[in-house]
Amino acid sequence: MISELTTTQTLTDFYENMRLLHKIRTNILNSILNSESISIKDLISLERIKHAIEDIPKENGKYKLQSSQGADIFLELDYELGELKKDNIFLKYGHRALKKHMTKIHPNYLKEVDDGLNFLKKYEFEHFITDRDGTVSNYCGRYLSSIQSIYNALSLSEFSKTIQGRCLILTSAPLLNNGLKEVSIQPENEYILSGSKGREIIINGKNHTLPIKENEQQKLDELNQKISKLLNQQEFSVFRHIGSGYQQKFGQITLARQDKNNSIAQHKSLELKQNVLNIVDRIDPEKVYFGVEDTGQDLEIMLKVKSDDNQLKEFDKGHGLKFIMQELNENIDNRTVLICGDTASDVPMLKAAQELGAEVISVFVTEDEELKSSVKSICKQSYFVSSPDALIYMLFKYSKKQDSWNPLSLFLSLVNKL
Ligand SMILES: [Mg+2]
Repeated sequence: MISELTTTQTLTDFYENMRLLHKIRTNILNSILNSESISIKDLISLERIKHAIEDIPKENGKYKLQSSQGADIFLELDYELGELKKDNIFLKYGHRALKKHMTKIHPNYLKEVDDGLNFLKKYEFEHFITDRDGTVSNYCGRYLSSIQSIYNALSLSEFSKTIQGRCLILTSAPLLNNGLKEVSIQPENEYILSGSKGREIIINGKNHTLPIKENEQQKLDELNQKISKLLNQQEFSVFRHIGSGYQQKFGQITLARQDKNNSIAQHKSLELKQNVLNIVDRIDPEKVYFGVEDTGQDLEIMLKVKSDDNQLKEFDKGHGLKFIMQELNENIDNRTVLICGDTASDVPMLKAAQELGAEVISVFVTEDEELKSSVKSICKQSYFVSSPDALIYMLFKYSKKQDSWNPLSLFLSLVNKL
């Protein structure tokens, strides 16, 4: 496995290393979950990937790689390196050391976790439904390299054991083909994965999708063709590589116009937006098929659906949640359901679960006062934290009621193998 590691000069090398990282993290996670010794080769590989990323040449604080056309691409790699560091601390020294590290990164971390734990402890949850990015996972510069870290998967794994019913990750990213499944290392028997705002879901290894009408799919295909063509132009090609990139989802398209570090000049970002809006207008002049949402970083172009009052509405995570519950044949009436999210696009999940009769408890990762009041107006029993790290640790503590991860036994077993 060690020999598989490539030096990182091109974007292709980088993603090859990310693919390897996914494999190694999965191996290590499975060893821990099965109470087996971690392979020393995997630990060395993890270390080598970290060095391979750190060794990428830097220019003006950014990592420089070459695209397949030979153009320079500049990336920030905070997520990749930050999560490797956290995993390293966690595997070597355990939860207490990781907690110490987190308190250095996040002001108010301990208070948020303690208060949050007191909030969660009031309830026993039948089901757990959560968004991924920005909620139970830190934001990454690029979706494709947002490989789930080991401490994160273990914490979610422990929390899933406290849930009698379903644990569901409901994201707007695609499920397959460079989607949620490829960046997640969580065992599939613990969490059901669902992509494209709930239009796609894997149940017992089988892919279920909410059907799209033929004429709608044709319009979507046409839109994808035109956007691909736009991104093939040299001046716009960079948008494939920043933030969420270009994601052709089931029933939806996401195109990044900015990343979390604002690395694209504002005029360039707006120029792309205008070009995309013009394409949408040409394909759907009557605005019957598509709704466009601009999050400031991403342009989300969604197929519209008919809502209960027969109005055309953009497909949201509330529609997705109802479809999923139907596919799972799950009745959540009168059940206590924990729902977590971090943006306005997660709010419809609260409403949908309530409409299905659930008693909804929510935790949102946000410091946005407007979003907080919108969550509270729907769900009175809500709690807010400022980072996914705080939420993850709250969930872990809820499941353990203590800091019980003991790396000593792990390392003794590892040393015995040497
Ligand atoms: Mg999110």
